[in-house]
Amino acid sequence: MASVKCPNCGSTEWKQARMVYEDGRSFSEGKTSGMAMGFGSDGSTIVGSTSGTIRRISQTELSSRCSPPIRPEKEGGRLFAPLVVAILMAGSASFKYLIYGMNGSRSVIGSVIAIFFVFLSICGVVLQVGLYKASENENAQKMKKYWQRLLEYDRTRICTRCGTLYVP
Ligand SMILES: [Zn+2]
Repeated sequence: MASVKCPNCGSTEWKQARMVYEDGRSFSEGKTSGMAMGFGSDGSTIVGSTSGTIRRISQTELSSRCSPPIRPEKEGGRLFAPLVVAILMAGSASFKYLIYGMNGSRSVIGSVIAIFFVFLSICGVVLQVGLYKASENENAQKMKKYWQRLLEYDRTRICTRCGTLYVP
């Protein structure tokens, strides 16, 4: 463990990013944590540096820098659903016309329009299914990336000397 050094200053002292993040959220006055990192009474975090000078980073800033990846929102796919419903209704009305006609009779132009709407409604359903599948795929990809980031985040450390974030 001691062999892992901060890529910025070479310090071997570190904390888990998640711990710093959670400490920041449950911060209370007077609370101190070990090693080179402490909490100032004004809510700032003190990170000691090699030269002995003390640098103050606001607790909220440090905590947000150490915050975990954001879970992606599920989206898309159903956006065109109302349009598809409208097309389907037109399609089924056209289909009825093709079978029963209007008041028992059908005109050539009416049949052509009806066939067009039936065709359109089939296309609409195919398109909607395609869009839905594509968005499901995209959501799955996003979640996969999110889990990868989360795994990396769990390994992320913050140097208690200079505040650099790194994955060993
Ligand atoms: Zn460092």
